[in-house]
Amino acid sequence: MTVEQPVQAPVPAPESTPDRILVAGEWRRGGGDPFETTDPATGRTLAVLTAADTADVDEAARRAARAAADPAWRALPAHHRARLLHRIADAIDARAADLAALQTADTGKALTETRALVASAAGTFRYTAAALETAEEALTPSRGPYVTMSVYEPIGVVGAINPWNSPLAGDAQKLAPALAGGNAVLLKPAEWTPLVSLALGRLVTTALTELGLPTALLSVLPGRGSLIGDAIVRDPRVGKVTFTGGTATGRTLAHAAAEKLMPLSLELGGKSPTVVLADADVEQALAGVMFGVFSSSGQSCIAGSRLFVARALYDEFLAELVARVKALRVGPGTASDTQVAPLVHHEHRDSVAAYVDLAREEGARVLCGGAAPQGPEYAAGAYYLPTVLDGLPNSARTCQEEIFGPVLVALPFDDEDDLVRQANASVYGLACGIWTRDHRAAWRIARRVDAGTVWINTYKQFSISTPFGGMKDSGLGREKGPAGFRSYQRQKSLYWGTSHAPLPWAH
Ligand code: NAD
Repeated sequence: MTVEQPVQAPVPAPESTPDRILVAGEWRRGGGDPFETTDPATGRTLAVLTAADTADVDEAARRAARAAADPAWRALPAHHRARLLHRIADAIDARAADLAALQTADTGKALTETRALVASAAGTFRYTAAALETAEEALTPSRGPYVTMSVYEPIGVVGAINPWNSPLAGDAQKLAPALAGGNAVLLKPAEWTPLVSLALGRLVTTALTELGLPTALLSVLPGRGSLIGDAIVRDPRVGKVTFTGGTATGRTLAHAAAEKLMPLSLELGGKSPTVVLADADVEQALAGVMFGVFSSSGQSCIAGSRLFVARALYDEFLAELVARVKALRVGPGTASDTQVAPLVHHEHRDSVAAYVDLAREEGARVLCGGAAPQGPEYAAGAYYLPTVLDGLPNSARTCQEEIFGPVLVALPFDDEDDLVRQANASVYGLACGIWTRDHRAAWRIARRVDAGTVWINTYKQFSISTPFGGMKDSGLGREKGPAGFRSYQRQKSLYWGTSHAPLPWAH
C-alpha cells in the first residue's frame, strides 16, 4: 500500500481551527456545547468545535436578512455577482490540496475522491457564474396592449442543510446557486463533518470582503440537526430551505416548511437498482457495478445498491463479481491505491454492520465481506469490508432500506416486466443503472423505471449542467442545470401598458 505524503492528514491551520464558527461574517465561539470531530481512519480527534446555539441562528438570520436587503448586494448586477462566484472558485483551486486533505481527514474518503470533489466544487461555482451571466429575463407573448415580461428576484435568506458524505461539493451545490440568486445563506453542515464547510466559509468571507460586499451574507452554523437545523428551518426570515439528507429528516422539514408555506428542495435517500441484461458487456458491467456501489464506501445517495441480473447470466456474473470484490483494496483515504476507505464514523460502521446482521436473520447468503477487515492496520479505523449478499426476496428490509455503506444485494430477474416491477417496488426513485448492448431495451427500461437519473452503460457520473433530483421518497425539486439557480429566486410578472386607451371602467 503506497501512502502519499502527508501520511497524517494535516491538522487544520490555526485560522481554520475549530472552536470558531461563522456567524454573519464573524468568527467566534458558538454558544452551544463543544463537540469533537474525528478522523475515522484512526479514531484520533481532529478538532474540538463549539456548536452554534439558537441565539447564534437568530443573530445570523437577522443580519443575513439585512445583508440580503443591502443595495450593495441586492442591486448588484448579475455579472458582479458572477465575479464573486469566480473569485470563490479561484480560492478553492488555490487551496485545493489542503481542502482535499481536510475532507479526507474529516470524512475518511480517499484522497483520489476528495481531490475530485474539490475540483467539482470549484467547477460548480464557475458553471453557476456562467449560467447567471448568460440567463435572460424573457419577454412573454403579449395578449393585449401591453408588454409582458418575467423577472426574477432574490428570496432573501436561504437555509442550506447538508449531510456528511460529500461536504465540500454538496455545500458548493447549494451555496453557488443561492448566492447567484442574490440571497444570503445560513449553511448547516452535518455534525460529523463540519471542518470543510468552515474552511469554505473562510474562503467565501475573504472573497466577500475583497469585493466590498456584506460579509453577513454567509453563516456556517455547525450543531445538532434537531436544534440548529430546526431553528434555521423555522426562522421566519428564512424564505427557502435546500436540504440534502435522509428521507425521514426531509419529511420532518417538509412539515415545518408547510407551516410557513415556504419553498423547499429535498435531495433524499435512495436504494438504486443497477440492472445487467443478458447481452451486457460483462467486463464493463462488472467494473461499473462495483464502482457504482463500493466507491465512497457505499456512502452515496446514488449508490447502485440493488443489483438485478438477468437469470441466464446470474450465477456466472455473481461468481466473477464476488471474486473481484474480494480483491478490492481496503485502506486509509490517504493511501493512493485505496479503493474502499473507512466509513465516516464508528457509529455509522456499527449501523452498517447491524444491517448485515439483519440480512443474515432475513436468510441472506453473505457471498463476501460481512465483517470489519482484520489486522492491526484496521483496528482503530471505521472500516467495513465490501459485502455482497443474495438469496433474499426484493421485499426483505435489506433490499428495501438504505444502508449507506459498502453493501450490495443481488437479485435475479426473468424478463423486462419482472425487472421493472421489482426495480419500482421501492419507496425510492433516485437513480438507476442499465448495462446492455441493446439500446432499444435500455430506452424502454429507462423510460419505465422510477428514477430521477438513469445511467446507461455508465454509472455515478455527474455533470453540473444536467439537472439532478429524485422521485418518490428520494426528493422534491431539481438542482444543477442552467436553471438551477432560478429555484433560489422568486418570479415576478410585469405588464407595461403601451396604449393610452382607457381601461373599461374609466370615466
Ligand atoms: P440526516 O438526514 O440525518 O442529516 C442531514 C442533515 O440534516 C444534517 O446536517 C443534520 O444535522 C440535519 N438535520 C437532522 N435533523 C434535522 C431536523 N429535524 N431539522 C433540520 N435539520 C436536521 O442525513 P445524514 O445521515 O447526515 O446523511 C445521509 C443521508 O443523506 C442518506 O439518506 C443519503 O441518501 C442522503 N443523501 C442524499 C443525497 C441526494 O442528493 N439525494 C446526497 C447525499 C446524501
